[in-house]
Amino acid sequence: MVELQVEDTIQWLEKSNEKIQQNKDYLTALDQAIGDSDHGINMSRGFQEVVNQLKSKQYDTVSDVLKDTAMTLMSKVGGASGPLFGTAFLRFSMRVKGIDPISQDAFTKGMEDALAGIIQRGKAATGEKTMVDVWSPVVDYFKGTTIIQADEVAQIAKKAMEQTKEITATKGRASYFKEKSIGHIDPGAASSFYIFEALSEVIKGEG
Ligand code: ADP
Ligand code: MG
Repeated sequence: MVELQVEDTIQWLEKSNEKIQQNKDYLTALDQAIGDSDHGINMSRGFQEVVNQLKSKQYDTVSDVLKDTAMTLMSKVGGASGPLFGTAFLRFSMRVKGIDPISQDAFTKGMEDALAGIIQRGKAATGEKTMVDVWSPVVDYFKGTTIIQADEVAQIAKKAMEQTKEITATKGRASYFKEKSIGHIDPGAASSFYIFEALSEVIKGEG
């Protein structure tokens, strides 16, 4: 990855939306096992609204795209995940304000702040079977590499998502299931994977 422009950012969110729409029932099924069966509905509604919003306006900066995304997710996604993803995109937007297009370095700093926002808001650390378990290794990868490789992003996110299966949930609704949460992928880890898979495709230039 060299840099992210306004169009790339919009494409990233559109691709994220496509994947979330395609996997809406799967996300709901994951949340049925260890939650309240609304994650697919929450995410599909939220991301569809994000795309509608982005299509209805002209954007000059990556920061503005991310800010509108954040506001939409916060207001349209019910459940815990709305404010968490909303905070992530808001913190990202704040960090890259005034930078356009955003370089890989600015992108990495934005993602670091996004993760910090999720952690602050949700008070979850890694190993608690939440979206943090996907965001954290991906952000670590961004921080530790000079040139972000698209395939690596998708692979790291996928592996991290799959590893949430082994964890006992200690945050969010899934924590009520205690050890019974073992054997199930965390829904928010799965939706986060789609977001990073979409990013990986944009970096690759598939689109
Ligand atoms: P709700 O749990 O309110 O029904 P969703 O089903 O939309 O909301 O989202 C659930 C997902 O949100 C979980 O799978 C998990 O990844 C994430 N989540 C829940 N609580 C927290 C938290 N405190 N910190 C980080 N992520 C969390
Ligand atoms: Mg739920």
